[in-house]
Amino acid sequence: MSLSAYLQPLLWVLVFTPAEYLFCVYPLVLFSHERRQNILLLVFNLTVTALLGGAAAGLVYVAVDAVLPAGLGAPIAAWPFWLQVVASVVLADLGVYVSHRLMHTPLLWRFHEVHHSAEEMNWMVAYRFHPVDLTITGIFTSLPLLVLGLPTEAIAVARTVHGVQAMLSHANITWGFGPLRRVVVDPRFHHWHHANERDAYDRNFSALLVLWDWLFGTLYVPERPRAAVFGTGDLARRGIVDLLLDPFRPSVAPPAGEAAPVERDAPELVPSAPTLMPATAQGGAASADGTHQMQRPAAMATTGR
Ligand SMILES: [Zn+2]
Ligand SMILES: [Zn+2]
Repeated sequence: MSLSAYLQPLLWVLVFTPAEYLFCVYPLVLFSHERRQNILLLVFNLTVTALLGGAAAGLVYVAVDAVLPAGLGAPIAAWPFWLQVVASVVLADLGVYVSHRLMHTPLLWRFHEVHHSAEEMNWMVAYRFHPVDLTITGIFTSLPLLVLGLPTEAIAVARTVHGVQAMLSHANITWGFGPLRRVVVDPRFHHWHHANERDAYDRNFSALLVLWDWLFGTLYVPERPRAAVFGTGDLARRGIVDLLLDPFRPSVAPPAGEAAPVERDAPELVPSAPTLMPATAQGGAASADGTHQMQRPAAMATTGR
């Protein structure tokens, strides 16, 4: 693993930590068990996941490339570099949207729940992912681009754009994007995706362009400015090994007397009528119809939020 892979998050420590100190929207927590989990996951993902996940993604690419007709990517390979970069950013963003929705299905939710288990919203949550989640997302954001003939240099630029955007959209900062928020995902938008509130479940999957949520009917822009409660259960208090192994274990039924986790039907990747109206103004758009079983804190389950 190259040193630059570690330098990048260290560089962002110098940017986002003071930014969150000066402009935090939620109480600032600099030292916590959860933040330690984030750091350990970051190190694990930059070493083990990068090696094994990268190898797995490479094998998938070789297998797919073998069955596709030769010369498929020739037209796009001839495009000017700036256009290849734009195409890479947009296509990778669509790849994030599709894989993100798949991660919210019952089959994959337990892996993605590691990300959603964060109770403290800050820029480091951008690194809080289970290796299986990262590998699947990596395949969806790289494979179609490589098959279409986009060069690795353009894909690398797209990865950097999405990496910075991921940190920004998770950051504990008051910044919004003004009128641009209708086009580009800002922290408030993505924080709603993490909110442990029924109306916000399985909404706002977009990573960079709001377009995808608008197009596929998963946009959620409530009148209230900020989500208040995050997390899915006790994963934020577990050890790092436990966090990595948990998705492979059978689900544990809630103790007798406690409310059962919320079960919802799977959403479909079917476009609904495009609108930029807030989801709360779209009638059924804000109703819960998601897939995963959100293990809600007992207090929330009893209050019915
Ligand atoms: Zn998610
Ligand atoms: Zn997130």
